[in-house]
Amino acid sequence: MSVLVFFDGDEELSAQAVSLADQLGGELHGVQVDGPYAPSAWAAAVVEAADEVGAEAIVGPGSDRGNEVLAHVAAQLDLPFAANVTEIRGDELTRQRWGGTLLEEARIHAERKLLTAAPFALAASPTVVQARVVTPALDGAVRVVDHVAPDTGGKVSLADAKVVVSGGRGVGSSEGFAILEELAALLDAAVGCSRVVTSAGWRPHADQVGQTGTKVSPDLYIACGISGATQHIAGCKGAKKLLAINADPEATIFGHADYGVIGDLHQIVPAISAELREARG
Ligand SMILES: Cc1cc2nc3c(=O)[nH]c(=O)nc-3n(C[C@H](O)[C@H](O)[C@H](O)COP(=O)(O)OP(=O)(O)OC[C@H]3O[C@@H](n4cnc5c(N)ncnc54)[C@H](O)[C@@H]3O)c2cc1C
Repeated sequence: MSVLVFFDGDEELSAQAVSLADQLGGELHGVQVDGPYAPSAWAAAVVEAADEVGAEAIVGPGSDRGNEVLAHVAAQLDLPFAANVTEIRGDELTRQRWGGTLLEEARIHAERKLLTAAPFALAASPTVVQARVVTPALDGAVRVVDHVAPDTGGKVSLADAKVVVSGGRGVGSSEGFAILEELAALLDAAVGCSRVVTSAGWRPHADQVGQTGTKVSPDLYIACGISGATQHIAGCKGAKKLLAINADPEATIFGHADYGVIGDLHQIVPAISAELREARG
């Protein structure tokens, strides 16, 4: 069996795609597309590369770009596509639905399987796959001509931060975020928030973590006054460790947390900042 892995430039997620491709047990080939991002043209280049190696499966990373390109591949080939797959056994697969809160057992009937790997559900594969770099024909294709990064005011961005201090309704107000900002500054962290917070206008939408916000994968995610709704967890489940601070011992967030502090965040967050300052002299 010949399997083509699509590398989208995200090394970590692409290595997870190789893990999924490994499960198919065939000979692995790689393809990387050069030039400005143009989903349909990139997909055509991936299809061409798959035809060249006679690939019976195309596996991509479960990134926004990986899912978008594979969706275009599926449309161009008129084949089914299974996104966010965690395991594949022949024609049978397990994949994540509802932001990773539901695992679905499914069957894929196609002469060429199109799959993406669920982000952070698989360990990165140690298998080294050489990716052939191809340049797509961009004639008439929709393409990205500019990329405007959000103004973070010189601070670390939410998507890149190693530590995220995030606040929910429990923070109480826009001004209440001052103590989270203070802790974030001490930890070189970014400040995030839940949708309740952005809906209330306490923080801009760019700060929202979740299904309809930014998906983060820091080393540490500190959730302050956040209940742990599935739509929020969908955005932070990639965190290596989660510390939850919540007044309600029954809060759902504790079921996702590695560390939990039960209590009023207005006392706990400043106490952590004070400890950090003291420990650093
Ligand atoms: C289609 C759809 C998409 C959505 N997308 C997103 C998304 O991208 N991101 C997102 O976050 N939500 C999203 N939501 C909303 C989501 O369902 C929840 O409503 C939201 O995440 C709840 O926010 P919260 O945890 O801040 O508020 P709440 O659920 O109200 O929780 C507040 C928590 O704060 C605690 N608390 C209160 N006071 C204190 C205190 N003094 N100290 C400590 N703890 C305290 C409470 O015990 C409670 O657990 C979406 C919903 C839908 C339907």
